[in-house]
Amino acid sequence: MGNSSGHVVIVGAGHAGGSAAALLRQYGWKGPITLIGAESLAPYQRPPLSKAWLHGGSDLPSLLLRTADFYQSQDVALLLSTDVTGIDRGAGAIALASGEMIAYDRLVLALGAFARSLPVPGHDLAGVFRLRTVADANALKAALHPGACIAIIGAGYIGLEVAASARLLGADVVVIEREARVLARVASTALSEHFHRRHAAAGVRIVLNAAVEAFDGHAGRVSSVRLTDGSTIPCDAVLMGVGAAPNDALARAAGLDCDDGITVDVNARTSDPSIHAIGDCTRRPLPLYRRTGRLESVPNALEQAKQAAADMCGRAPPSPELPWFWSDQYDTRLQIAGLPFDVEETAIRGDPTAGSFAIFHLTQDGTVQAVEAVNAPTSFMAGRLMIARRKRVTAASLSDVSCSLHQLVG
Ligand code: FAD
Repeated sequence: MGNSSGHVVIVGAGHAGGSAAALLRQYGWKGPITLIGAESLAPYQRPPLSKAWLHGGSDLPSLLLRTADFYQSQDVALLLSTDVTGIDRGAGAIALASGEMIAYDRLVLALGAFARSLPVPGHDLAGVFRLRTVADANALKAALHPGACIAIIGAGYIGLEVAASARLLGADVVVIEREARVLARVASTALSEHFHRRHAAAGVRIVLNAAVEAFDGHAGRVSSVRLTDGSTIPCDAVLMGVGAAPNDALARAAGLDCDDGITVDVNARTSDPSIHAIGDCTRRPLPLYRRTGRLESVPNALEQAKQAAADMCGRAPPSPELPWFWSDQYDTRLQIAGLPFDVEETAIRGDPTAGSFAIFHLTQDGTVQAVEAVNAPTSFMAGRLMIARRKRVTAASLSDVSCSLHQLVG
């Protein structure tokens, strides 16, 4: 550790990989750095793909993480449109699809995740989309125009963000969800109710407790979604927004420890001392919550890029960060901090029907574990501090808007 002159190869030129390359230089890595990505674009931000990029509110320069000349100026060799097909740990080399081998002293796996597909008949019809890359977003966007109807399978964040963008573009939207509420796996009931109301007000039809049996089509193109209760929903396009799975196959094939994601420690080290893994492809420790988990978020990609770069450069590890996340839908900015493990009590501050409120989640002893803030940045910031400081407060004081958050943070 600390010898910063070897060749670092970073596989995956996404948010985590691109950030790791920049941080390695910032932290003083002197040796060659090669950043290899399967996509044709330099590292870019995925969050706008379901939001501003999709409804036309952003352009390519603002999508890119860094300008094209950044990598050259930092002496980072950027190999795009290049698939890595194997890791030979014994030889210390990775294999490209072309058959070429590239030797490494340190390897960083920043492989991301892939959008899951629904394994039902018709999933491969034209007009059935998934959303992970800018190419996916461009194909989806072409199907969203006034008068077109899109059926979105899955009411998670990506499904609901696409629903909002599609409405902004004038398309009709039906959201089909297997669970009894939208955002069932990722949000509290009060938050689900808020987003359900907001989408219904925007004209989105939401079908809950509904399982997809098949996508039916005409002449190879999707024309309806068939549900297991026998009903059909006519549509011109389908988005499968049914979650993402980690790209850990390369690591598994190379014998690295994996468990639904590449297993890493708090320094983003894998079970091989010369290999780090960062971002959506990992299963990582969550020190504040004394367990491991997978976090699919930009803040996590950045935090792990810092961990790996600091570790390789022999610097002190960065202090652990609180998990956080955001989502934009219509005029709603949602910000979430912390993870709602072991929560016993909930306090709502503000009026959910007025569109600005926060939901605090507390453990049995009154420790704040998580906050979900809807158009409420002050509550979000206060909640972050309370969680980080392991503040104990009462639900009643949080719900009482005459109680100052400043005082509660202490
Ligand atoms: P990625 O950005 O997926 O990058 C991985 C890269 O590795 C990809 O380019 C892939 O092609 C490449 N790769 C994989 N295997 C190989 C290989 N064998 N050879 C070469 N290259 C390979 N997060 C938030 O915090 N807030 C949001 O609002 C938000 N919205 C999102 C909206 C959408 C539509 C999507 C798809 C994601 C969103 N996310 C959001 C999640 C966030 O974008 C991810 O957490 C983040 O991109 C993870 O970065 P990463 O570098 O780990 O993975």
